[in-house]
Amino acid sequence: MTHAYLDNAATTPVAPEVVQAMMEVYQTVHGNPSSTHGPGRKAKALVETSRRSIAKLLGCPPRTICFTSGGTEADNHAIQAAVNSLGVRRIVTSEAEHSAVVKATNAAGEGQGVEVVHVKHHEDGSVDLADLERILSGSNVPTLVSLMHANNEVGVVVDLKRLSDVCRTHGAWIHSDTVQTMGHYPMNLGELDVDFLTCSAHKFHGPKGAGFLYVNPTLRVGGMIVGGGQERTLRGGTENVAGIVGLAKAFDLAFEHMTEHEAHIRAMKERMVAGLRRAVPGVVFNGESDRADRLYTVLNAKFPPHPNGGMAVFLLDLEGIACSGGSACSSGATLGSHVLRALGFHDPDKASVRFSFSRYTTEADIDCALEAVAKVFAAVEEAV
Ligand code: PLP
Repeated sequence: MTHAYLDNAATTPVAPEVVQAMMEVYQTVHGNPSSTHGPGRKAKALVETSRRSIAKLLGCPPRTICFTSGGTEADNHAIQAAVNSLGVRRIVTSEAEHSAVVKATNAAGEGQGVEVVHVKHHEDGSVDLADLERILSGSNVPTLVSLMHANNEVGVVVDLKRLSDVCRTHGAWIHSDTVQTMGHYPMNLGELDVDFLTCSAHKFHGPKGAGFLYVNPTLRVGGMIVGGGQERTLRGGTENVAGIVGLAKAFDLAFEHMTEHEAHIRAMKERMVAGLRRAVPGVVFNGESDRADRLYTVLNAKFPPHPNGGMAVFLLDLEGIACSGGSACSSGATLGSHVLRALGFHDPDKASVRFSFSRYTTEADIDCALEAVAKVFAAVEEAV
């Protein structure tokens, strides 16, 4: 009975063109890409064509793309590769990273004695690059900087070119979790000097369980999952052929129509911002997520104190609105958001709700959500 799906930062609906491309694979290609016979070669060709098409759109050599099961695996792989293959002994990161990075860096700290340092954020939630520079200039320990391109909860964006300049000046390796921006922002890896980037197909209308890790071609790193030597030994395991084809198709569609999709999504977000301001006086936006220079798919609203505040996401769900109170990656558990806490936006008296949009979001979706928000956050005299 969902009337409006506004949780696209958690995952997006699969594009019909992607479903069709994947169905064709499931129905016509059954070979194992590692088999040398005809059906195997056919599957292998699909994997390699997909790799080439993604690499072309990113301006990088195809061998730099290692297919994975998605963003979490790619983030883990980048961090483990930096420690195990590059000899990194210090990781500079942020407490507002996705749990995949927070937990992988903590594991490197606890299990392998790597020093983990957290960079400061400005009051508006953005990363304090001057603090990063201070940290990097203070030590010559081999260092990986792991900072996400755009935050999945509040939408603050790091300028990757500036990040790269700061890190390279101080000889640090760079990993950026680009899970929320791949397929939504142009990226030219012929010009951008970074070591590891990560991608997840289901954030731009591709299938769940497919993604990739980009590894700078100058690096020699080992695999995280060992096995049959697939992905040039970077990732053992029979390839998810249909998933990879779906990922490449979704990537293709995202890049081909990026400008028009962005314009549409921005218009939806602006309608939501204006409507929320009208419906709930006193609403504010965590991370200044209403700003044009924030991730354009995400809006994080903080509502004034209200008896329904603690149940806001639940009550909106009852009204048929799918949105979220934080990252969706903890099996729907409402533990509160580590990101809002880390950035100083958490307020126990005020509900924060993330609305996130896609190219399929309509004006009717926004209006329906605004009606539901007005109902949930109705004037207190009516609510009690
Ligand atoms: N990184 C960020 C910023 C994300 O938003 C997500 C998904 O929510 C992930 C990593 C994990 O990606 P996946 O769901 O493909 O494992």
